[in-house]
Formats: sequence, C-alpha cells, structure tokens
Amino acid sequence: MSKVLVIGCGGVASVAIHKCCQVSEVFTELCIASRTKSKCDKLAAELAPKTATRITTAQVDADDVQQVIDLIRACKPDLVMNIALPYQDLTIMDACLACGVNYMDTANYEPENTDDPAWRAVYEKRCREAGFSAYFDYSWQWAYRKKFEAAGLTALLGCGFDPGVTQAYCAHAKKHEFDTIDTIDILDCNGGDHGYAFATNFNPEVNLREVSAPGSYWENGHWVEIPPMSIKREYNFDQVGHKDMYLLHHEEIESLALNIPEARRIRFFMTFGQSYLDHMRCLENVGMLSTSPVDFEGQQIVPIKFLKALLPDPASLGSRTKGKTNIGCIFTGKKSGQDKTYYIYNVCDHQECYREVGSQAISYTTGVPAMCGALMLLTGKWNKLGVCTVEEFDPDPFLAALDQYGLPRRESRTPALVD
Ligand code: NDP
Repeated sequence: MSKVLVIGCGGVASVAIHKCCQVSEVFTELCIASRTKSKCDKLAAELAPKTATRITTAQVDADDVQQVIDLIRACKPDLVMNIALPYQDLTIMDACLACGVNYMDTANYEPENTDDPAWRAVYEKRCREAGFSAYFDYSWQWAYRKKFEAAGLTALLGCGFDPGVTQAYCAHAKKHEFDTIDTIDILDCNGGDHGYAFATNFNPEVNLREVSAPGSYWENGHWVEIPPMSIKREYNFDQVGHKDMYLLHHEEIESLALNIPEARRIRFFMTFGQSYLDHMRCLENVGMLSTSPVDFEGQQIVPIKFLKALLPDPASLGSRTKGKTNIGCIFTGKKSGQDKTYYIYNVCDHQECYREVGSQAISYTTGVPAMCGALMLLTGKWNKLGVCTVEEFDPDPFLAALDQYGLPRRESRTPALVD
C-alpha cells in the first residue's frame, strides 16, 4: 500500500503511470502533477475505469522548489517520481529533502539555460577536470549524497532504459556472468519508422542536445572525447537487422566507470538513419539547436524551444511508429580464468506498446523501468540510502520485474563484438 507523486505527464510519464495502474496492489494511490494540469486530468480520466489505483491530479511548476514542497506536503507521498525534464531534477530533490521523501528520476540533471554564468563557470571547470564536455553529468546530483544519507532517504537516479536497465544489465553480468569485466559496449538501436521526415522519439530539446554534443568513452581510467558522430560502426541487431550506429557520450558511462572500476573500456552507441543526421546537421548549422534566446520582432525566442513547437509531439508518434527497438550491453571479460563474451538485451515492438499503453517503444522502454524502479523502492527490495544509480542495487528482483511487466531480457553467449 503506497502513495506516489508523479511529476510530469509527457510520453514517458504516461507509460509509467499506465504501468503503475497495472500494479494497484503496490501503487494504491497516485497523484499526477505537471505544468499543464489538463494533460494529467485527461490521463486520469482514461485510466480511472480500468484500475483500482486511486488517481488525483495537480498543477505544479517544478522549477519552483516551494511549489513542489507545498504539493508534497498536501499529497504526503511515499515516493516522488520525477518524470518531467532533467532541468527539474535539483529543485525536486531539494523539495524531497525538505519533506523527507524518497526521490527517483529517469535522466540526470542538465541546465535549461547553458548561458547562465554561474552554471557555466562550474561546467567549464568540470570540462577541464573530467575531460568531457556534455552538458549533462552526475556531479550536480552526486553533490546531494551526504544530504540524502543523513536524512535516511534514497534518491534513485536515471531509472529508464539507458540509463537504467543498461546498468542493471551490468550489475547482472558482474554478479552472475563474470569474475572480471574487461569491456562494456552499450548498444541502443531503434529500428522504428514513424513516417515523418524528421521527429525525435522523446523530448526534442533533450534529445537533440544529447546527440549533437561531442561523443566520449571511458578507456584506461580516463575519458576520450571525439567530435560529434565521428565514430561510426555497423551492427546486425537481432530482429531489427543491420543499422549504422554512432558513439555518443552517455551518462551511465560515468557511474559505471566508478562502480565497475576494473572495466578497461566503456562505450555507448546509438543508431541513427542518414535522414535524421542530415536534418540535425542542417538545424544545427542554421542555429536552430541553440539554447540562447534571440530577439525576434521584439520577442525573446529560444531557437530549440521554437523548434520543439514545430516538431511532432513525441507522445503522438505511437500510432504511426512501426518496427522494433533492441537495446542492451555486450561484455567481454573473464570467468573461471577463461575469456568470455556475453550479450544481454531487450527487443521491444513499437506497435505492441501502442496497443498496450498508447505509446511508442521509446517511451515504453523508459516508463516500464521507471515503474519497476519505483516498485523496488516501495517494496523495500532496494533500500540503500543516499544518491544511487541502478548498478548499485541487486539486479535480480529488478530484472525479474522487467521480465514480468513487458521488457523481458534476451541473452547470447556468442555475440558479434563491436571492433
Ligand atoms: P515530454 O516532453 O514528453 O514530457 C515532459 C513532461 O514534463 C511534460 O508533461 C511537461 O509538461 C512536464 N514539465 C516540463 N517542465 C515542467 C515543469 N517546470 N514543471 C512541471 N512539469 C514540467 O518528455 P518525455 O516524457 O519524453 O521525457 C521525460 C524524461 O524522461 C526526460 O527527463 C527524458 O530525458 C527522460 N528520458 C529518459 C530515457 C532513459 O532511457 N533513461 C529515455 C527517454 C527519455 P507540459 O506538458 O506542460 O510541457
């Protein structure tokens, strides 16, 4: 019996809320709160006849700590699921600390305005010291570790698929498959087609900033940074086929380097079609990916926000998207003195997701792990205090929940390796 406050009601939150409502014996009460309350009301009305979970809704601007505190005090949840945007991570964590409530999210903090001088000074120092220049990193949220520990609370960071399930796959490999892990390649393949010339599968601002940043990977104890999209490989994905994929910086590399220190190399690859890359390069070249406000006919406009308004809403892609995703990790290492390779992954069908919860597979593969992570915290299966990432917890009950609630694992002990 527990009460959960979900902040955000976009593509991912909608899936997580659908799935929470399928586990009413744990999620007895849900409060859905977001900037636009009408979206929460619409979803609550759709789900109410189908679930025993009691649903209420609220309006909140989660950029404002006091509003979140007031909401938490009114709602009295056991857990806050932050499924808004990475920009709200710190304000929601502050509010959880003020109210003594556990916290979780699906993506690590990044600032909305990368021109903010105070943020920029810290960012530039981080770039020099750490050696990668992505806007997002864990340092902001790891800075809350002592505060969460002292308050006897847990903050679970990045519990989507990647980050999220990929780290549980790493914890599983470490626990059951290897004595030592040498290399980890995380492969994120979306073989889906939505029929638009250009659209992003999740929040366009966050997505385009991520993929237009320099890539980086972890090797021999330090970061190697490369120009955006400059390392390309082809891989033959189970049930999807041959796809081009590109090396990106991704947040879980940072925590995995810390928590699996013996790993000599950790890389992240994501598939992109040529049309997506051509559109993205063009938009970047004309300045449409900029986060700095420009003056347009007397009004201040942030180009990437204007672009977001023009692009299809990712939550609307569900009915159009056909094909499958294949996301997982390939490991090399040693078991009982022998060299070993191992691949663990999930294949998810866009149309099956749409039939079940009205969303495409990108939102589904993020929303289901968010629900399963909440389930782990609410049932006490994961109870480490402080600010934690998924690989710090026992992967067994989490992977069992994913198997049960829609993202079953597949395994291969003879995978092709990425050169
Ligand atoms: P959407 O843009 O579809 O939804 C974001 C939601 O947050 C909207 O309901 C929006 O409200 C709400 N919101 C935004 N700002 C505020 C605010 N200040 N106060 C309250 N609510 C706010 O995003 P997605 O659902 O696609 O993504 C959600 C999260 O999941 C993101 O953090 C994203 O990075 C992450 N993600 C993680 C993945 C993983 O595998 N780990 C993969 C994909 C996404 P409104 O309707 O008013 O705009």
